[in-house]
Amino acid sequence: MKAAILVEQNAPLVVADLDIPQLSVGQVLVKIAYTGICGKQLEEISGKRGEDQFLPHLLGHEGAGIVLDVGPGVRKVKSGDHVVLHWMKGSGIDSAPPRFLWNGAAVSAGWVTTFSEYTVASENRLTPIAADLKLDVASLLGCAVTTGLGIVFNDANLKPGQSIAVFGVGGVGLNVIQGAALVNAYPIMAIDLYDHKLEQARRFGATHTENAGRNASQAFLKEFTHGRGFDVTIDTTGSADVFQMAYNLTSGTGKVILAGVLHHQKRITIDAFPLHFGRRIIGAHGGGTQPDLDISRYLELYKQGKLKLDEQITHRYPLDNINEALDTVRRGEAGRCLISMG
Ligand SMILES: [Zn+2]
Repeated sequence: MKAAILVEQNAPLVVADLDIPQLSVGQVLVKIAYTGICGKQLEEISGKRGEDQFLPHLLGHEGAGIVLDVGPGVRKVKSGDHVVLHWMKGSGIDSAPPRFLWNGAAVSAGWVTTFSEYTVASENRLTPIAADLKLDVASLLGCAVTTGLGIVFNDANLKPGQSIAVFGVGGVGLNVIQGAALVNAYPIMAIDLYDHKLEQARRFGATHTENAGRNASQAFLKEFTHGRGFDVTIDTTGSADVFQMAYNLTSGTGKVILAGVLHHQKRITIDAFPLHFGRRIIGAHGGGTQPDLDISRYLELYKQGKLKLDEQITHRYPLDNINEALDTVRRGEAGRCLISMG
């Protein structure tokens, strides 16, 4: 099978042919239809969290496809099922990660990887979906959509009429905005460096937008809450400066949620005093998503026309052009950028 392999940090992925291993307990062979690219893979390539112990290895953690075969013990899915591939754990066996061979040498992979024509995934990283759902749309439920909505519903527990500021409206940020609009938060402030992303944020429910490169000073933004600060602030950028600003713009009893991952050598500086009076800092982990419950719930909202998914897909590339796709995401040009396996 064809797969994109991370051989070296800060270098293009190598697209090559790998042997598919025999399935062991709890493993499932899936023919991938679509995979998304998210910040996590760019971080793995650039070494944002430090040196990589697992090179060479496969990448990608959100996708959708069709089950071809199941290993011993698998009961959740069967051959022919359409599935979402997600990195958050659901029900089912937590299998050993697969080990692929490339010209006789080992290539590591996690419990789910998706930058390949086929993959071997752990049963608990798969959720079956109805066969009439489009697989390109379904692939978004593997990470960005569930994380963004989960941050709003689980981490922030945002209530109607509460105020929220979202720093960075990429894949996760846009879905935070969408979730905030679903619960009727107000105001819903989107802050980004790109005007085209702010326009999209408006279409997804932002009531206010500001370009961080122009007039988005701390004092200016705080005025939108009459000086109180926002009930919820969310940093999706992973920049220490942005996190500090989000923290300072959070109300006395509000929550600041760190959704972007900080570089491993970066530190944040805050005045900790407000933490004694009710302000809280939360590090997001997949929005606390429970795939078995949440994916079908969100897909039902989509079917009812209450969740925008098609509109998020802005770019599609074949697997052979994955490095071009990664560059598009790096430049901040894409909404969701999909790799189509054809
Ligand atoms: Zn992701």
